[in-house]
Amino acid sequence: MYDVIIIGAGIIGTNIARELSRYNTKVLIIEKDIDVSMGATKANSAIVHGGYAESHSTLRGRLCYKGRKQFKRLNEELNFGFEETGSLVVSTEDDKEPLEKLMENGIKNGLDDLSIIGSEEIREIEPELTHDAKWALYCKGAGVCSPYEMAIAMAENAIKNGVKLELENEVIDIEKIEDRFKVTTDKGEYYGKYVVNAAGLYSDKISKMVGVDNFEILPRSGEYILFTRGTGDPINTVIFQLPTKLGKGVLVTSTYYGNLLIGPDANDEIEREDTSTHVERIAKIYQQAKSLYDKINPKQFIRSFTGIRARSSTNDFIIEETKVKGFINVAGIQSPGLTSSPAIAEMVIGILQDAGLKLEENPNFDPYRKPIIIKKPLKPFNEIKDKIELPLGSEGRIVCRCEQVLEEEIVDALHRGIKVKTIDGVKRRTRATMGWCQGDFCKPRVIEVMEREYGEKIDPSYDIEHSGVNRVQKSELLDYLNSLEEE
Ligand SMILES: Cc1cc2nc3c(=O)[nH]c(=O)nc-3n(C[C@H](O)[C@H](O)[C@H](O)COP(=O)(O)OP(=O)(O)OC[C@H]3O[C@@H](n4cnc5c(N)ncnc54)[C@H](O)[C@@H]3O)c2cc1C
Repeated sequence: MYDVIIIGAGIIGTNIARELSRYNTKVLIIEKDIDVSMGATKANSAIVHGGYAESHSTLRGRLCYKGRKQFKRLNEELNFGFEETGSLVVSTEDDKEPLEKLMENGIKNGLDDLSIIGSEEIREIEPELTHDAKWALYCKGAGVCSPYEMAIAMAENAIKNGVKLELENEVIDIEKIEDRFKVTTDKGEYYGKYVVNAAGLYSDKISKMVGVDNFEILPRSGEYILFTRGTGDPINTVIFQLPTKLGKGVLVTSTYYGNLLIGPDANDEIEREDTSTHVERIAKIYQQAKSLYDKINPKQFIRSFTGIRARSSTNDFIIEETKVKGFINVAGIQSPGLTSSPAIAEMVIGILQDAGLKLEENPNFDPYRKPIIIKKPLKPFNEIKDKIELPLGSEGRIVCRCEQVLEEEIVDALHRGIKVKTIDGVKRRTRATMGWCQGDFCKPRVIEVMEREYGEKIDPSYDIEHSGVNRVQKSELLDYLNSLEEE
């Protein structure tokens, strides 16, 4: 019997699990997918938001800065990749009022690193910006992170500190029997005194399993374009347009690893898990982003992708013990959920304590996790050519030439307490297959290492099925943009 069963291994479930592993509690995470971080956590803007955009009257407003302040320490402990780059909300209008309102809101949310700057200072911070920007709200402490690495790091560290993880277990029923819960999955039954519902897009369905139906999840998709590594280098901060009713609008940023990232848009007319991308939407994002930064070169496009926001019908985070004692909903965790996640985890620990969970410190808690990826500049091809050609098992052998991933980094990633069954899982842990060729060269080489390490055949069906998602490719975007020019 577990003290706490957490449903969902996204950034929320893994943060809560890791926080609980500071104590002598028996914790289980149940995840339906093949790996951790397979939901919204792997497909988003990866921004560690300032915390000024959401109203103080909402949990989203109150928890964002509280979460943001913890990223530096967490990254020092867990090495998932975080950089404080700062952010700008730029305005082309003479009127500063919308920015002043955002700033006022930020101050209410506790921020102390906001300022409104004029065009000269904007140029100093972002010399490449094309926008006729007159004013900007500058948030010094905002930044970028690697969100899936963060969830992987949280999960690895939680496991090291005693948490159990069951992957490929879809929760299909929950029953309260006296003072405990029976959680039934498609693989078995688990018992726990408390259940934390962190099931993202499915959190309303999980909640309904215990008869709590006071909210619904209204999915909202956002599409993105990711460009090759190095294209993000001229951009120093995260650049936003003024927010609209639908959200923060299209942003331009460099990812933590230096890829230019533009997006997302917003569309509510979607199926819950439809992550296909659409050329009209992608082209529109390109045009909007170009009005901020006109050096975007569509020929450097490497991938389009979609993230789905688990927006709740209350349009706020829902973090509460429900009318079913011991059943806690952590639902509707749309943006800025990633940024808020450390603060959400602390809040959930408080709720569990108030609900009667006894928390006694785990004297063996080890907060540290070594990195897998060490961020470093890429070397010229002629300097690495020999290392690519080395035979399997040689020291210093490079498996992925675009991202220059070493065989030993892949080996390390495979032996950290979570069995990595897919190339996609290796990709998110090491960056192998994430470069210009998108795996054409290294996929078979990655499989070779996985099969040797695990001593078994790797079933490629999951990767094939998921890479089959209908995504706009570079040639399609280029043709479409050409056709627009011809019109
Ligand atoms: C387009 C977009 C852009 C965003 N940008 C940002 C940003 O820049 N900064 C920021 O702070 N936030 C951002 N967010 C928000 C952030 O990504 C989310 O708030 C966060 O990832 C939510 O994490 P989660 O753990 O709640 O959900 P998820 O990551 O979706 O995890 C939920 C997990 O539950 C599992 N699950 C579901 N049903 C079951 C079941 N029946 N049994 C077992 N497991 C189940 C799923 O498989 C999934 O792994 C963005 C979101 C989107 C979509």
